[in-house]
Amino acid sequence: MTAVALLNWRSSDHFDHGGDCPCTQCGQPTPMRSHTSEPVHKVCAEDWNDRNPNAPRHQHDGHDLGTTRFHSDPPSKSRKDGAR
Ligand SMILES: [Zn+2]
Repeated sequence: MTAVALLNWRSSDHFDHGGDCPCTQCGQPTPMRSHTSEPVHKVCAEDWNDRNPNAPRHQHDGHDLGTTRFHSDPPSKSRKDGAR
């Protein structure tokens, strides 16, 4: 009954000027990046969060993304090393 929690991706870090990549959720091109630099539409990330309130994030291309939810945090290049 609760509304989908909206992410705050206003930071320019969430926008990859390098070009579009296929969204990991719907497969359509998107310039948006999650906090793990995963290509995903903001609406798709919000929808995933809404549909998986307690589930861990699935792996992507065999890599553990190291998080359970999409976050509003801007992408961090160094996060990958310290998340273990
Ligand atoms: Zn999408």
